[in-house]
Amino acid sequence: MDKVNNKYAEIEWREDGQPLSRTYDDIYFSSASGLEETRYVFLQQNTLAERWQRLGKDGVFTIAETGFGTGLNFIAAAELWQQTAPESARLHFISVEKFPLRRNDLRRALDLWPQLASLAQSLIDNYPPLLATGVHRLQFGQISLTLIIGEASQALSSLRLQRDSDHQVDAWFLDGFAPAKNPDMWTPELFANMAALSGPGATLATFTCAGLVKRGLRDAGFALRKVPGFAHKREMLCGTLESSQSLETRETPWHLPKEENQLPQTVAVVGAGIASATAARALAERGLRVQVFEQGEEPGSGGSGNDQGILYAKLSPKPGPNGDFNLHALMFAQRYYHSRCPDVSHFSGLLQLAQTERQQQLQDQVATTLAKSDGQFLAEPVDAHTASLLAGVVLPFGGLHFPRAGWIEPKKVCATLLQHPNITLHSNHSVLELHQNPTDWLLKTDRSDVSADAVVLCGANDIRQFAATAPLPLKPIRGQVSKARATEGSSRLKVALCGEGYITPAHCGSQSFGATFKLKETATELRDSEHGENLQTLAGLLPQVAEDFADQTLTGRAALRAATPDYLPLAGPVPDWASIGRTYEALRKNRKQFIPARADYHRGLYVMGGLGSRGFTYAPLTAEVLASWILHDPLPVSATLAKALHPTRFAIRDLGRNRDIS
Ligand code: SAM
Repeated sequence: MDKVNNKYAEIEWREDGQPLSRTYDDIYFSSASGLEETRYVFLQQNTLAERWQRLGKDGVFTIAETGFGTGLNFIAAAELWQQTAPESARLHFISVEKFPLRRNDLRRALDLWPQLASLAQSLIDNYPPLLATGVHRLQFGQISLTLIIGEASQALSSLRLQRDSDHQVDAWFLDGFAPAKNPDMWTPELFANMAALSGPGATLATFTCAGLVKRGLRDAGFALRKVPGFAHKREMLCGTLESSQSLETRETPWHLPKEENQLPQTVAVVGAGIASATAARALAERGLRVQVFEQGEEPGSGGSGNDQGILYAKLSPKPGPNGDFNLHALMFAQRYYHSRCPDVSHFSGLLQLAQTERQQQLQDQVATTLAKSDGQFLAEPVDAHTASLLAGVVLPFGGLHFPRAGWIEPKKVCATLLQHPNITLHSNHSVLELHQNPTDWLLKTDRSDVSADAVVLCGANDIRQFAATAPLPLKPIRGQVSKARATEGSSRLKVALCGEGYITPAHCGSQSFGATFKLKETATELRDSEHGENLQTLAGLLPQVAEDFADQTLTGRAALRAATPDYLPLAGPVPDWASIGRTYEALRKNRKQFIPARADYHRGLYVMGGLGSRGFTYAPLTAEVLASWILHDPLPVSATLAKALHPTRFAIRDLGRNRDIS
């Protein structure tokens, strides 16, 4: 889990119903009218309505804000966007917040604006448990909110390191409490990062006219104007970026291609499991035309083809990429399936049992973190008695209860996601060869030749069949799921249950449980021996059910997953491995050496895979990362995580250990 964020906004509710920050002893918005102030200061002075009316139908606009607070600025901007921008254009709203509001405070603050009730409700429904510093991506139709929990200047500088994202912001909402009350935020570093992130013609607006803000912004390259302030305030500032600047970084840019990719309009996605379904969907929702090639007869023919699967993540009490990704991926996946596939997502809760003392200790640590930070919204510790009540069956252990997780119908989820007007599915098509043309790619399939501006390889272990992706260290893992006829006793189970192994509630008269984990095995026939293993594992969770199932002839399914050595997925551009080797050769001698050069990448070639046995939990966020690489969108995860998922990471690690990289 990320570093715990237990610095919540300490709010005092004044008699007039307005929120005041105890930490800063300052108000969140004007007591005259917060909404009118937002509209005047931030929307009008950034001339947003005029600029959005002029956007083309594929237009993309990015706002960045310091101080998310109650989300009022975001909601007011979202409302104006809906009124003025073309329906298919996309708005990115990036906001940094050091002291996020607790959900209840957020609700209370937004209740002040009944005229914004519908957008406010969507924000409250999607507002994540803010138990981690880091990046949260929330999607509202064509509007994406990237909420970064952290200190403004640091967060902006890490946004800059994510990718070639410099020069991407079109308008700034420079909010934050008054400089006199909050001098730490209004620093030269903040202004320099703003300038480096600004695109040509970027504008800014801020409620303050303080001297240090004026000087700082001018020094960073903004031309400023004073205009009358809102209500009783005499003046405020607005401005435009005049001279764009780049800031030096000391991070070796191995993750960034030497040449920026052209934005594609057509994409070929290879494979039709959950990786390709989420990748195709993420691209289609951004207006690209996507062709999906599946060698099997229907989506979910491979590892994503089970009837039932659970939405499971392994939270870790320690900060680090694995725990951090699991946490963010789970939160994102819950929202994602809930909005896109509600009919085939059954989120009536998931219980993760602590079956050993070690597991109990780990869960206790996770629970402490959760308790500090509004995390009960995500998961809550329960004892064996409460667990049994929640589950509807007697359980010998307590565990963590995830009220918004549960189980899904994997195959149907894949099919549902692929139903989008911008997606064409080609079943029974094996992609045999990839050829790069000067401006696009030619895919030779066993049926026809197809071209596309970009290619995304998603087919689990098959990703390695192409020369460019053969060096990726994917390893197959055979997994067999068993399926039994639900019995009277087993059908009482109301939640997805996991610990050592898992079992789903009954659906259409049957229940799935499993699964085996056979590293590097590639055969996919059903094995009685593995049914036996699954029964044995199930006996640890529900002994009586395991005994009842043992009398049946079990059915099931065995398939291959693909995993990486660090068990994190792959998402991003595919490098030219030889160029990586040459460019970063010096890492062999000193793995920490700063090398400013970038390497060559295959233009328009991407990979998404290595989801292991948590495909359905990991895929939605991983696909969002992938789509952001392809379309130069702000990334939905922290810089550290984006690199932890990057396909080049293994080659860089190997160079640092002076090993061969392909
Ligand atoms: N834009 C907000 C809204 O629509 O409700 C109001 C913002 S309120 C006036 C200022 C916000 O800036 C507070 O939520 C505060 O916690 C946040 N803030 C203050 N200093 C910060 C810093 N250094 N980094 C990030 N956020 C900060």
